[in-house]
Amino acid sequence: MGLSNQSTGAAVLQSEFKIERNHSGERIIALAGNPNVGKSTVFNSLTGLNQHTGNWPGKTVTNAQGRYKYKDNTFILADVPGMYSLMANSEEEEVARNFICFGDSDAVVVVTDATCLERNLYLVLQILEVTTNVVVCVNLMDEAKRKHIYVDLNELSRLLGVAVIGTSASTGKGLDELMEAVLQVTVRRNDSAHLEISYDEVIEKCIDIIESGVKELPHKALNSRWISLKLLDGDEKLLKSLEKYLELDLLKNQALFQKLEEAKRLLTFNGINYETFREMIASKSVSLAEDIASTSIRIENEEYNDLDRKIDSIVTSRRFGIPIMIGLLGLIFWLTITGANYPSQAIASFLFWVEGQLTGLFMQLSAPAWVHSLFVTGVYRTLAWVVSVMLPPMAIFFPLFTLLEDLGYLPRVAFNLDNFFKKSCAHGKQALTMCMGFGCNAAAIIGCRIINSPREKLIAMITNNFVPCNGRFPQPHKEQQNYSLQLTY
Ligand code: GDP
Repeated sequence: MGLSNQSTGAAVLQSEFKIERNHSGERIIALAGNPNVGKSTVFNSLTGLNQHTGNWPGKTVTNAQGRYKYKDNTFILADVPGMYSLMANSEEEEVARNFICFGDSDAVVVVTDATCLERNLYLVLQILEVTTNVVVCVNLMDEAKRKHIYVDLNELSRLLGVAVIGTSASTGKGLDELMEAVLQVTVRRNDSAHLEISYDEVIEKCIDIIESGVKELPHKALNSRWISLKLLDGDEKLLKSLEKYLELDLLKNQALFQKLEEAKRLLTFNGINYETFREMIASKSVSLAEDIASTSIRIENEEYNDLDRKIDSIVTSRRFGIPIMIGLLGLIFWLTITGANYPSQAIASFLFWVEGQLTGLFMQLSAPAWVHSLFVTGVYRTLAWVVSVMLPPMAIFFPLFTLLEDLGYLPRVAFNLDNFFKKSCAHGKQALTMCMGFGCNAAAIIGCRIINSPREKLIAMITNNFVPCNGRFPQPHKEQQNYSLQLTY
């Protein structure tokens, strides 16, 4: 792969990412993609039970690896965290980018969602800038068909210059073709003409200036164009990664440093500052993704999406967004609190009846009072209370919460509340973890990992404590009296 064939870098990185080949013939495949595109489904379908999960060393980010065999070849599949870009905006994205750029992988499979391919193509284009040993897996083809969205896979493959395979991972359709394409790209490497994003004239000139310096570096396998672009961008995280994984301190190289300064002067001379530069780079990829999507995707039923958009504009509107949200969440709480009373009562009656039976048994056995006190009024009664009070609201709240999530409503809640949370220096996504806190604080605090900034994550975790989880919801006093059996022993 583009950046990784450095013996030192690969060795450092291999130990860090803990991908060890059992023998040199094993091929490492990075599985990348936006979140929620079916990446885990592809991973599970290919590797089956032959996988293990841990954390990337020193990170809170999950690392799943698995092996699969195809035509007598063994492949190690590394499921890198979901990401929207290679900008390394979050810890997950940083891990993913470092693995794709510096990991010792033989190919990258980019999983995309056929129902919103245009958005996914942005990441594909970014990865193609780093390496061309790429297979694009267009997943959720069944869902796209249902929505009357048709993806011309051959045309997409022609435009991108890499293999493009359509799959429906949940049913396993297309996975054989995917494995074949991966085998081909690892055996032959992709030498065909691939897509290269060309930027504005000034930027291209600047890239040329820096690239001439990068090419003189001893690391011949470096993807010089991409590195030049990142140097121009002043991406400090990448510079640190280069130093860490390839032992390459680019800026200590005087000749290269001077070329970089020259290129930066050229940018400034043309009125391009840091922000405009980033905007120009991003908008080029976005417009290219749009162009590719418009030629390779056909939507037969535009109205299908129109309905989605109409609903979206209502649930996120200034006027109705908040009232709808309060109404829906209120309904869920009402269903949870009121609805849970009935099963709670039934479970409590049963469990405390059992307590009575246990007491009778202990009496018959003439067990000492302290034994009864320890096991029955201590351990058993506590367990009975926890089960009868906490289980029913959880069993109602979480399915309803999941339903809202599956309907895609929760991100809209985050969107509606983002402004309010921002005013209190927190993140809109905290709306989700706070809602979840009503179900279970422990789960909500774990869920705070969806917030990227460490500071906002910490705020979300600490303040989640003020959300009463359903175990802390007040119970009607009357019922408590009923349950508190006055057993004499
Ligand atoms: P990830 O976040 O990219 O790892 O996505 P997951 O693998 O968790 O999948 C997200 C959801 O999409 C899950 O509910 C999957 O069952 C579903 N899914 C994945 N692949 C397909 C597919 O090909 N067709 C359909 N209809 N659903 C899929």
